[in-house]
Amino acid sequence: MITNTDKLQEFISIPSVDNHPYGNKQAIDFVSTFLSTIGFDCQTEGASRTDQPVLVCRHPGRNSNQKIVIYGHYDVAPVGVNETWKYGDPFTLKETEGRFFCRGIADNKGPLWARLEAVAELFDGEAPCPEILWLIQGEEEVTSGERVAKEIFSHHIERFGGNLFIEETGFNNIDTGAQIAFLWSPSLSQEALRSWEPLLQASLNKPLVEYRHLNKFNGIEACPLLGNLPDKAVYIGFGPNDRLHQIHRENESLNIERLDQHKKQFKEFLSQYARVSCNPSE
Ligand SMILES: [Zn+2]
Repeated sequence: MITNTDKLQEFISIPSVDNHPYGNKQAIDFVSTFLSTIGFDCQTEGASRTDQPVLVCRHPGRNSNQKIVIYGHYDVAPVGVNETWKYGDPFTLKETEGRFFCRGIADNKGPLWARLEAVAELFDGEAPCPEILWLIQGEEEVTSGERVAKEIFSHHIERFGGNLFIEETGFNNIDTGAQIAFLWSPSLSQEALRSWEPLLQASLNKPLVEYRHLNKFNGIEACPLLGNLPDKAVYIGFGPNDRLHQIHRENESLNIERLDQHKKQFKEFLSQYARVSCNPSE
């Protein structure tokens, strides 16, 4: 279960849209305060025109020699003048029909919040955890002009030296109930990637594995994660989204059970990966 929906509401209520005079700064403070409290070293980087720099967070991990890079973003799509929200203010978390409705819940504040809680719970116990580089950009929804994330990601990914990269979310088929996990690499063969399936099967809900990456609104090259993957990188995406998510549109929403499940799975995935003695495809 999401433990603290008040905190999720607080995160949702922050107007971190492009060019907002203070919303992005508040979102950075919100995430970095949370992560610092559980032992992450957090820094912002990149002189962005509107205080939308990259948040770079690191944790040395615990009792594990694995490394993992996690991607996310704290900005949300703007609310268009023609959008009609059936439950009122899009920056207020509305819980109904088994879903949360609000701007940014599916892209990407809901999954990000579930992961923050998952990692906090993991460190609160004694389970091993991989070393983490968490790259959280603030310009995913910026469609024009210079963006600062690309070069910053490139530098940190190279310096960190990890080989496993986790996408901001994944998908679920609401008709069949199947969870879909993405598994991809710029250069590794599907055969080599197959060796990662046992880890996915063990930590997720019997997912259907699709050998591709998440579709990106602005294209792969504009994505600082996909556009910067090392050749032999292994890219995995899993998360609570489904076809009703309405990303970038009115009545954006997320299934509450799936969000709870994501928190549990994210924690499980990290702790199982931490115990793997070497990367499955090596
Ligand atoms: Zn997104």
